[in-house]
Parts: sequence; C-alpha cells; structure tokens
Amino acid sequence: MPFNPSVKRKIVRDKLTNEHLPCVMCGTRYPLPDAVHLIDEKEWKAKVGSDRQINGIPLCPNCHRIFDEVLRPYLYRALKGFGSTGLPASWEKNNKLSVSEQGLNLGSGDEA
Ligand SMILES: [Zn+2]
Repeated sequence: MPFNPSVKRKIVRDKLTNEHLPCVMCGTRYPLPDAVHLIDEKEWKAKVGSDRQINGIPLCPNCHRIFDEVLRPYLYRALKGFGSTGLPASWEKNNKLSVSEQGLNLGSGDEA
C-alpha cells in the first residue's frame, strides 16, 4: 500500500522547488520516484498509528527493489549481530519474494 498522497508528496518533492527529489541511493532523477517505506507500512502503523514522512525515502524503481529485497535483510542481520534490539521484523527477510534468501548468501546468522 502506498503512502497517503500528502505524505508521499513530502517524501518525493523538494519543498522549495516542488521538483521531484533524486533517488537517495543512486542519485538518479526519475520522473516518478517511489516513496518507499523504511519500515513496512503494516508494522509502522501497528506501532505508530499513521504514515509519517520520517518513515519514507525517495527511491528510483531499481533502488526500491534493491532496498526491499537485498539491503534490508543485510542491515537487519548486521544490526542484530551488533546487538541491536527492537528491529523491525519486516527487515528480517526479503518480503518481496523475487530474490531468494539463498541467492543473498545470508546463511543462518550464527556464523562468526
Ligand atoms: Zn536509485
């Protein structure tokens, strides 16, 4: 589910120029950048209540996919290994199912 339109606008547009912001991962200016949830919407709303700008970043479609399918699971594992607690469950695994976890070479997480 996308952000509500007013929140999306704040995430993807420069408030001074009203132009679309570049992708925060690769810097590409894409005609219609995605407003990407950092924490999955369901999990965010269960804890916080409503969409907020702070939970979104502008990404191009390619980086959106990389973020959801690859980066979040890697970040989750690194943060967990570092001892961080309270991590979003939605980051633990790729939830989009187009890249297998085996393909990510994540292992069991118990390796040193
Ligand atoms: Zn990008």
